Amino acid sequence: MCLRRLTRPALGLAGALLLVVCGLAQAVTPVEVGPGFGRLNLQPLVEILPEGGAGLTPGQARDHPGFVPNVRGDNSLGFRAEPLWVRIRLQSAPDGPRRVLLEIAYPLLDQVSLTLFYPDGHSRTYEAGDTLPFDARPLRFANPTFPIDLPGQGVLTGVLRLQTSGSLQFPLVLRDAKTQSGHLSGRYLGFGVYYGAFLSLGFLACAMFIYSRDINFLVYALYLASYALLQFSLNGFATQVLWPGGGLLASRMPPLLTGTTMIFMMLLTIRFLGFWPHSRGLRLGFRVFLGLSALVVALGALGPLHLAIPLASLVGTFLLPLILAASIFALRLGLRTARYFLIAWGLFLSGGSVTGLTLAGVLPSAFYTTYAMQIGSVLEVWVLALALLDRVRSLREQKEAAVGSANRYLRQLNEDLERRVLDRTRALEATNARLVDLARRDSLTGLLNHRTALERLDALLATGAGRPVTVIMLDIDHFKQINDRFGHLTGDRVLVAIAEVLSRHIGPEDLLGRYGGEEFVAVLKGTDEAAVGERAEALRLAIAALSPEGLGERTLTASLGVAVARHGPCDGAEALISRADHALYRAKHLGRNRVVLAAGPVAELSLADGFGG
Ligand code: GH3
Ligand code: MG
Ligand code: MG
Repeated sequence: MCLRRLTRPALGLAGALLLVVCGLAQAVTPVEVGPGFGRLNLQPLVEILPEGGAGLTPGQARDHPGFVPNVRGDNSLGFRAEPLWVRIRLQSAPDGPRRVLLEIAYPLLDQVSLTLFYPDGHSRTYEAGDTLPFDARPLRFANPTFPIDLPGQGVLTGVLRLQTSGSLQFPLVLRDAKTQSGHLSGRYLGFGVYYGAFLSLGFLACAMFIYSRDINFLVYALYLASYALLQFSLNGFATQVLWPGGGLLASRMPPLLTGTTMIFMMLLTIRFLGFWPHSRGLRLGFRVFLGLSALVVALGALGPLHLAIPLASLVGTFLLPLILAASIFALRLGLRTARYFLIAWGLFLSGGSVTGLTLAGVLPSAFYTTYAMQIGSVLEVWVLALALLDRVRSLREQKEAAVGSANRYLRQLNEDLERRVLDRTRALEATNARLVDLARRDSLTGLLNHRTALERLDALLATGAGRPVTVIMLDIDHFKQINDRFGHLTGDRVLVAIAEVLSRHIGPEDLLGRYGGEEFVAVLKGTDEAAVGERAEALRLAIAALSPEGLGERTLTASLGVAVARHGPCDGAEALISRADHALYRAKHLGRNRVVLAAGPVAELSLADGFGG
């Protein structure tokens, strides 16, 4: 501030003289570029001059008495909109390199111009800075770099004018032009590995998203893309490759991408760690930080950058502890994979701290300390990838368990179903059998009906060759009178009673059916005429012995015709029945209540009147 006040044009002559004296007293000696010169950190060897309100031409700046040595060697002046002049004085030693390169190892400056004043009076001006088209630079490097041809004799004075909307940093490196390609190849190799790690993980995350449809992979991929793009722009490559046209984009992208990176980082944490329903404090914290990050994005895109950039670094600084707190909380909740989060962000934080301590001069500057943040961030994204893969594994385990129990349930269901189908089938079969049986039986007496009795007889005759049978036709005598006298219901009961008594006298291998009306047919095994005659007689007697309810004194009698099967074509079921029927007819004719044996196939022959009365 003192310097700025003194440099105001309103100063009196005495003040100006004093300043000149001070300036001369503090003037730095020219940097001598001698043989064996490789690389030189210029910060402590230059003079600086804030431009102040009035603009200066390079010529005015060169001779300005207000320059002070940058003795502290600082390269960062923080946020300042006003331009800064940097004066460099170079001198070539005999046998020293003729051409050197001046690099500003900070690619985010908006405008950079270097004017070189040679001892012979001529001068040369170069332009760089990311608001200019990239092609306007004298050398196409991400960091503004200027070629300087040293004069053989005398001192070369260069004045750099630096202006930026962000943080004004000007780490100056002077390098022998011959060493530049070696320097760049190492640098690009490092960055290639760095961005390669991000790119490969990004592809992996996208593939995993397509494969698993797990939104976490998409959020992770977006986080990777946003973070890698942020680094790409911070390293100056975005200006070289993505937006080489210049303009404000290069200045706006870093805060904007910082905002989006933080948002994706938080979304991933929220989705992954599952603490949301369990902690009000964390919910509040994440809401506040999401809001602030959105504000950073908005300011970065449209607002003033001198607000967007400090806000971005402020939110970023306090976001990591919040994420670590959420990880510890989730770990306490029992989420195994939260460990990965803790390790990942721990690595990131430690990397950042090591780089910070290295820049602050606490730690020695070596590859692993200077690039600790980059190394930490690569390790962080790899560990996060492991966390996501672990999550996929545990999801798959859950899925397999669910499929297993669903299968068990299905099997159980199937078994139940089969059992029920079997039960139903059995019930249906039983019902069917009952129906078939019903269809074969006479509904009143429960005996085989006419059709079934004939079918069975047919079957018996067909299969029972060598085991001939005898057919008995039985007709109740004067049944019509019973109906007429006692009513049809009583007649029915009589039919049932007769059916019962006949059933009792029929063997298990014999057949008994209701032939129709009050006529019954019995099929007995065996052809011994005497024996079957006796059995027919037993039937007749059993009926005669009946005294069914409702008949009073009225007795029941029946006439029976018996036909014994003969071998030969004429003894089919029909012929047999016809013969028995004929014998029955004869029995009626002879006075009823008797058994008549059909003697031959065509009936009417030898009638056994001996049976019955
Ligand atoms: P016959 O001694 O000559 O055989 O004389 P009948 O009266 O027994 O013979 P008829 O053929 O004249 O009469 C048979 C009667 O049987 C006629 C019919 O009303 C009766 N009937 C037929 N089926 C049933 C039945 O299911 N229930 C009752 N209650 N009566 C029946
Ligand atoms: Mg009849
Ligand atoms: Mg009758």
